[in-house]
Order: sequence, then C-alpha cells, then structure tokens
Amino acid sequence: MTNESLANLMTEKRRFAPPAEVAADANVTADAYRAADADRLGFWAEQARRLHWETEPAQTLDWSNPPFAKWFADGRLNVAYNCVDRHVLAGHGDRVALHFEGEPGDSRSLTYAELLREVSQAAHALTELGVEAGDRVAIYMPMIPETVVAMLACARIGAPHSVVFGAFSADALATRIEDADARVVITSDGGYRRGAPSPLKPTVDEALTRPGAARVRSVLVVRRTGQDIPWTEGRDLWWHELVARQPEQHTPLAFPAEHPLFILYTSGTTGRPKGILHTSGGYLTQTAYTHHAVFDLKPETDVYWCTADVGWVTGHSYIVYGPLANGATGVLYEGTPNTPHNGRWWEIVQKYGVTILYTAPTAIRTCMKWGDDIPAKFDLSSLRILGSVGEPINPEAWIWYRKHIGADRTPVVDTWWQTETGAIMISPLPGVTVAKPGAAQVPLPGIAATVVDDDGAEVAHGSGGYLTLTEPWPSMLRTIWGDDQRYLDTYWSRFEGKYFAGDGAKKDEDGDIWLLGRVDDVMLVSGHNISTTEVESALVSHPRIAEAAVVGATDPQTTQAICAFVILRGGAAEDEGLVDELRAHVAKELGPIAKPKRILPVDELPKTRSGKIMRRLLRDVAENRELGDVTTLTDSSVMELIQAKLPTAASED
Ligand code: ATP
Ligand code: MG
Repeated sequence: MTNESLANLMTEKRRFAPPAEVAADANVTADAYRAADADRLGFWAEQARRLHWETEPAQTLDWSNPPFAKWFADGRLNVAYNCVDRHVLAGHGDRVALHFEGEPGDSRSLTYAELLREVSQAAHALTELGVEAGDRVAIYMPMIPETVVAMLACARIGAPHSVVFGAFSADALATRIEDADARVVITSDGGYRRGAPSPLKPTVDEALTRPGAARVRSVLVVRRTGQDIPWTEGRDLWWHELVARQPEQHTPLAFPAEHPLFILYTSGTTGRPKGILHTSGGYLTQTAYTHHAVFDLKPETDVYWCTADVGWVTGHSYIVYGPLANGATGVLYEGTPNTPHNGRWWEIVQKYGVTILYTAPTAIRTCMKWGDDIPAKFDLSSLRILGSVGEPINPEAWIWYRKHIGADRTPVVDTWWQTETGAIMISPLPGVTVAKPGAAQVPLPGIAATVVDDDGAEVAHGSGGYLTLTEPWPSMLRTIWGDDQRYLDTYWSRFEGKYFAGDGAKKDEDGDIWLLGRVDDVMLVSGHNISTTEVESALVSHPRIAEAAVVGATDPQTTQAICAFVILRGGAAEDEGLVDELRAHVAKELGPIAKPKRILPVDELPKTRSGKIMRRLLRDVAENRELGDVTTLTDSSVMELIQAKLPTAASED
C-alpha cells in the first residue's frame, strides 16, 4: 500500500512537550522503555506483581503453540479480589470506587467497602441460580452501578460474562446469547436515555423467544426506572429480592491465570461481529499497567472518568478492570452528553472535580459542533490528563480538546487498541512523550508494533503500510469464542508470525506511528491510494464542518470515486456554494486527486456503540446497494434519513 497524500495528515506541526509538573511526578518515565527493551518478558513479569496472586506465576509466556498464547499460566488469582477486596484489606474501604450519576440527576457514591458487599451478595445470588465456574452469563444493562457489580460477581465465581450493549436489538442480543450459550441473563427494567426511561427487559423477553436463546433459565432484573415490564414467573427474578437477601461475605476462589474472564463481540464495522475471548491474569496485568502508565493515575487524589459504554471494550478495560485493579475513584454516567443540556458532561466534570477524562473523537467533534461557549461555562480546572480512543483523532479535534477542555495545558493521549488487544497498545505517555496532534505515536513499554509493506517487511521511516504486532502481549485475545480457525484466519494469516490488526498506518520521519483507519477503507482513485481518514480530516479542518465520513464508491472512470457525508457545525444552514467550496478546500489541502466527487450534507452519521462511523453502510448507500448488517448501529433510523436525502443533494461533476 502506498499512499500519496499521507504527508498532509501531518501538516499540523505544533508539538506539545509534557508539562513540567506532570513530567516531574509521572508514574512512568523513559526508563520503562529501556527496561522493557532490555527484557520484555521480565518487564511483564514485573508488571504482574501489581496484582495479588494466590499462587505467584513462575512462568511468564508460553508461546509453544502460536498463536495460542498462555501468560502466567501456572499462577492463580481471583480478578474480583484484585479489583475490590484487596483495597478494602489495605485500609481503603472508605475510598469511593464509583461516583454514579444518573441521567435524571440522581446520584450515588459507592465506596470500595460497599462495592465488596454488593459484589459478594451478587456472587452468592449467581451461585444460587446454579451458575458455576466456566458458565457464561449475558449482561444487558444500562450504565448503572449494578452493571459493574454484575461483571465483578461473574469474575468472582469464574463465570465468563458477555456484556451486550444496552441499545442492541432483540436479534443482536439473541445471537450473542446463543453464540456464548448463556443460561442466565442479567438486565434491568430499563435505563434513562435522552430524558426518558427506555425499556430493556421487553427486549430480553423478545430475544428469549428466538430458538437459539431458548435455553436461558433465569433472568435477573435490576429495578432502575420502575416502569411496568412483562414478567415470566419461575424464570424472572428481581435483583433487589434475590441479591439483597444473600450473605454479605463471600470467599473468593483463585482461578488459573488462563481462566476465561469474558467474551465480547467486536463493533462489526467491518463485518459480522466476532466473539473475542479474554482470560484473567494477563488481561488484568496489562489493563492495570496501562491505566497506571497512560493516565498517570494517582489513586489517592485523582477522579477518573471514562465516558465509554460498558458494552464496549473500553468500558470493560478502563471503567471496570484497569481502574478498579488500581484502586481508582471513577465516575459512571448513565446518560447522553446533551441531556438535559449540551453542557452535561462539563457539569459532571465540575461536580466531581474530574482530573482524568477518557473519551472518543466522535464525542469531541460533537462538542466542537455544539460550540466553544458550552464548556467555557464550567469550571474544568481540575482536569490534568485527557485521553482519546476509538478512531484516529484528526489534529483539528485534538487541538480543540486540549484548548477548550484542557485549558491549553493538559497532555492529550491518543490511545490505539482494539477489542482484540484488550488494553492500550500504542499511545504517548503523558510525562514522557512530546505529543503530535493526530498520532498515537509509540508502542507502550513491552509492546512490539510496527508498520509493514505488502510482503511483511518493515517500512522505512516516512512510509505507510499495515500496522502489525510482532510479539505476543499479556492482554491479547486468546481466540474467537468457539472458532479457533476464524481466529487464525482473521488475525494471523496475512503476515507470517505477525498479528495483523486491520488498520493502515504510517511511520513518520521520527519513526512515530500515525493511524490511517482500516485498510478496507483505503480508496483507489485513478491509480492513487487515498485514505478516508485524511480526506475526512481535511474536511473537518474547514470551519463549517463538524464531522465527515468518506467512502470510495465504485466508479467506471476512476475505479473508485470519493463520496463524503458531512455534518455542518453549530447547525449552520447549507447553501448553494458550500459543496463547491468544500471540494476546493480539500483540493487545496490534499491535492486535486483527493477532491470528493460527491459531498452530501447530512444531520447524522451511522455509528456503532463506540461512536465509530459505519463506512461499509455508507458505501452501500453510495453504491445504491441494499444495506448490510445494521444490528450494531446505535440508531438504525439514521440510515433511512441519509438514503432519503441522497438523490437530491448529491453534487456530481
Ligand atoms: P470489527 O472488528 O467487528 O469491524 P471494530 O474494529 O470497529 O469492529 P473495536 O475493536 O471496538 O471494533 O475497534 C478497534 C478499532 O478502532 C481499531 O482497529 C482501529 O481501527 C480503531 N481505533 C481505536 N483506537 C484508535 C486510535 N487511537 N487511533 C486510530 N484508530 C483507532
Ligand atoms: Mg476490528
């Protein structure tokens, strides 16, 4: 893969050195890279000592049957004990584990001691329902404390959980229940979304009418909204009845490090979702280490907020397992950023004195669209580290985030990783790295990643290619649930001995890594490879554009033609000249070859639960095809709106 316009993504030349006070007190310094380079496995063995092991592992990595890794295989631990009990035993029982903020404005702070009691009771409740170590439990919940309690209770008794995003349809839920063969579902009557109670339990009932999900024997229901819900006697049980009457003490058993912890299905931006399997010891080691290193967490003083949904891997690794393993105080927010007003997030930052914020580029661009004046109304001075995940962050959004949220002072860490990698892999370190807006930059200590060409050879500095991971890492997926062959084919077949992540990337002149989006998303236009990310970034650098999604549609003359879907900033009205102006703007930024053939202003873009744009659906629209699988969209009506707009607003040469 060559990429003509690549250099343009890097036109943002500003550099941001770590602030002196962050560098002086950073959890991790440049020494970590040196230590890991000198002895990679020794480095990870050292990080595993962050955890409490019932039996200390003598082995670090067993790679005798690649790509099926075993980390710390002879060690035994209990994941929930590591996330909860040991902090209480260390005297931090009164520390808040979670500040919960409900969308209607109700709130509740759970200390580590309270969390321990609830997790213990929930563990007993699951045991009463017949759940044993190794049995899978499906969790279909809103963003409430019981969701975290449920996950930890499963971990405590060794029952792998499969969290299904609370906005998925009955079909999506049913196929995931069936694939994992879960016999128990934990849900709630509903949750608050956009100012109103939104039901969940009826979707579970519907899912359980599907033949594949018919083996579910118990549905445990948390009462959140109090709305009326259908009830099946003998199968459905109230959480507040079953859990509350259980003993408050529970003795955790230690499980082998390779005991399955959870199954999580990928977003499905590129095709049918895959059930990614993660195990215990290696996963917890890397999530704890990366959370400590990348966010520079000081558990005594920081208030950490990750805005992801728990139904996404970021919620698993950086709301639940990493932060709780580190004894962090976290914020859990139930609702949407604009309920009841566009400043809700900033109000929450102010209320809890949030010091570390971790969110997605799509959310940042949405806030840009709403206007700078909104965050300006709140006191955000507690913030000291900002993080981004989920997509390449365009330099425009990176700079805005730092300036308007971080008072032009805070480091921004752009973290690259995947459901499959389990934890952050490539990211600046806030006390070490001189940050380049738009780049994830450097593999973390202990991680081996590089960019290769079509033949698998490492590219020279200044060239583009495929992002690969060249050594196993502790939190790597172990397989695709029930499908070892698909695991091999999907990740390990393209380049001998290397994990291929599906993403295109470039190494700049310093050897820093810039993510360029999915290789499937690279367009071929009149013999030139052009990345969708770059054209999107050029469009968003126009003052009137808030968000852009670009796809290549089959074209008889040019192989593919660039089609752009754009959202205007601050509700600006579209006018006659805008499309021409945007095309000229892209031509100026990237060269005439990258000028979109069609530009369509839209109100919304199709997004997954993690805020990723579903380009494959936009490609279907641009090529007038029937839409592919839409089950992982947060809102499938968006596609109808876009299709309805298509014939009239498109601009053609
Ligand atoms: P599927 O694999 O089913 O298509 P998905 O890849 O969208 O789903 P996730 O595992 O949630 O599901 O997303 C991981 C992908 O997100 C990465 O492969 C990458 O394309 C993108 N990504 C995540 N973080 C970053 C980042 N900081 N910079 C660039 N891209 C990122
Ligand atoms: Mg993927």
